[in-house]
Formats: sequence, structure tokens, C-alpha cells
Amino acid sequence: MEKVIIIRYSEMHLKGKNRGWFERVFSVNMEKSLKGMRHEIRRYSGRYLVENFDENQTEKIFAALKKVFGIHSYSVGLKTPADLDSIFAAANAVCDKSGTFKVESHRADKTFPLNSMQISAHIGGRLLDSNPQLKVDVHDPQFVINVDIRENGTALVFNKFFKGAGGMPVGTSGKGLLLISGGIDSPVAGHMIAKRGMEIDCIHFHSYPYTNMQAREKVEELAEKLSAYTCGTKLNIVSVTHIQEEIHKKCNGDYMVTLLRRFMMRIAERVALKSGAQCLITGESLAQVASQTIEGMTSSNSVVQKLPVLRPLCGFDKDEIIERSRDIGTYETSIEPYEDCCTVFLPKHPVTRPKMSDVLAEEEKLDVEKLIEEALSTLEVIKI
Ligand code: ATP
Ligand code: MG
Repeated sequence: MEKVIIIRYSEMHLKGKNRGWFERVFSVNMEKSLKGMRHEIRRYSGRYLVENFDENQTEKIFAALKKVFGIHSYSVGLKTPADLDSIFAAANAVCDKSGTFKVESHRADKTFPLNSMQISAHIGGRLLDSNPQLKVDVHDPQFVINVDIRENGTALVFNKFFKGAGGMPVGTSGKGLLLISGGIDSPVAGHMIAKRGMEIDCIHFHSYPYTNMQAREKVEELAEKLSAYTCGTKLNIVSVTHIQEEIHKKCNGDYMVTLLRRFMMRIAERVALKSGAQCLITGESLAQVASQTIEGMTSSNSVVQKLPVLRPLCGFDKDEIIERSRDIGTYETSIEPYEDCCTVFLPKHPVTRPKMSDVLAEEEKLDVEKLIEEALSTLEVIKI
């Protein structure tokens, strides 16, 4: 018998005709996540098996698989020939030596001489004979021994299910461009959309030298952490220093954040269209801070012409977002204290419910197109 990791996938079975394509994307993503670790991934009707791996790396492999969207659950188990003696030997090997248990069997190969109930009874009986400290409890057992007879003359035997990341394989729902700020929220927003199968590119705006290099490195680190879930990402970096200076010089300072957001959205849309991204994603959450009012969103939304803007965190409280950020491992980086460009030239009384006519009047004072072109000329792209 051989130690294997059994991978079950989530919603892919819903996708009828596209199933083959979904599965290919899924298996490429698993390969990417296990890069550098010895393994072979094999497809078994309705499952994948990781075989031939280094047992010392089991934890590392688990940690990587935990981040692959599309995995519903996984188990470590034993693969054996599908005959009763081999199955019993495997069951005995994965079985605790005391406590209450039951055996659950599943028979994909209907030509196997015993049915599921009979397999469970047979294996359960032999486990009891060999382990006097064991007791059967079919209603509330302490552990379950699972026997899964596959079609190809093999059986899988395991005793635990671990929950996978769920969702859909990244790359099966198009591509989006995430506005990533260095704060807590935007990486969480990117993670949520990636979970639905979307490939994620990132764009970050800085106002160097008003913001420092550490702020930028922090964003690179966040993009890298996110990329473990998104199977890699591209980080676009654009300077908005000159835009902010111009707003500061020419406009009512209370509109700094409102106007800057409109520039960010316009620039992001152009970068998205050029790189094939089909939507913008932000970490905004309704009413979380003064600038995230519905009026503020209306103002920044109205400059985006062709693409939808996804705001997956809109309905979340801050503590819910923080919890997710801890879960996905971005929190510690997000709370490093480097300034975001939105805090540069921050007015004492920023407008919180901007009126469109006032916003447009302030924006009239700027050469919007020229400022966008200038900002785009600072674009750097880092592949992560
Ligand atoms: P975050 O925690 O993501 O910074 P936040 O609650 O601080 O969010 P804001 O600073 O108001 O909220 O920003 C709202 C959203 O605008 C961010 O989630 C992000 O998507 C985008 N954004 C803000 N600043 C930047 C930036 N410097 N570069 C790219 N996107 C940004
Ligand atoms: Mg922020």
C-alpha cells in the first residue's frame, strides 16, 4: 500500500460541458502550488490523488493545497489493491487502536463482490477482532474509517477529512484588476473574488517621495501573499504624486480624496482594458470610513466607463474583514504602519458626501487627460 493525498473538488461538477476545461485549469493550479515539492498528481474519476510525495513534506504540501481554490476537502490515506485482505490491512494501519468507530464504504466499482454495507461490516468485524480496545458506534463514533473502492481495481482507505479552500479554480472566471492599497481590506477583497475563480492582477498607487519605499515593499509583500491563492499575480505600480500636487495647488483641498479616487479609478480602468482584465475590484466597505459613503462611491464609480466595479466587502463589518485577513495571512503585513498616498495632503475636513456638481466644478480646474497620461508614463509592472 502507498500513502496518498486524496483531493475532492467543489462546484466543478456543476459545469456540465465545460468540466474538462475546469479540471485542466484546476490541475495546473495544483501543480503550480506544489512546485518545488516532489509529487505526482493523478486524476481518478471524481478525485485527484497526490502520489509519490516525500512524507516529510506532508505538512508543507497541506499548507500549499489549503490555498488552492476548487478543493472541497482532502484526506491523507492509503491506496491499495481492491481486495478485502489489502483493504483490511490499510484500514488497520490508519485506525486508532482504541475508542469508538464505524466503517463507511463507497463502491464506485459495482462489480466488486460485496456491496457497501457488506464491505463496512466485513472490515469493521476484522478491526474489532484485531483491536480489543475498539468499539463500534454507528451513531456517534469518535472516528470513521472510510473505504472507497474505485473502478480501476484500487481502493482508498482514510480516516479524516480536512476542509479545503472551496470556491472555483482560479482562471475559470476571467480576470480582474484589484486596487491594492497596503491596508487590511483590499487583499481580503482580492481573495474573495479569486475564490470565485477569477485571476487577479493588482494595481497600486503611490506618492513617492511623500510616501516611502517601505510602503511600496509592504504592498509587494501583500501581493506576494495574495499570489499564493491566485496562482501568481502582476503588480502594476503607478505614481500619483503629480496628480496630488496639482489637486493641492489648484482645487479645494477638502476634495483631495474624492478627486484622487476618481483619478485612481480612471487609471485603473485603462490599465485593466490594456491587460485584458474585465473588472475593477476595490476593498471598499459601505460606511466604514468617511470617504466610503454611497455618495463617495457614486463619485468614483461614475468615471469608470466600460467595466463593472466589484466591491465584495461592502456588506462586511471591519471585525469580519480583520478575521478574514488573519485567516488568509495578510493581517500582520497590512498593519505595518507605512502611509498610504491617501493620507498625503489629507484635509482637515474632507467632504464625505460629495455633490456631483461640486466634484465636477473642482475637477474642471485640472487638465485631467494630461495628468492621467503623465501618471501612466510612470507605470511599472512587477511579475509576482
Ligand atoms: P484598505 O484597507 O484596502 O486600504 P481602506 O478601508 O483603508 O481600505 P480606503 O483607504 O478608503 O479604504 O480605500 C478604499 C479602497 O480604495 C481600497 O480598499 C483600495 O481598493 C482602493 N485604494 C485606496 N488607496 C489605494 C492605493 N494607494 N492604491 C490602490 N488602491 C487604493
Ligand atoms: Mg487604506
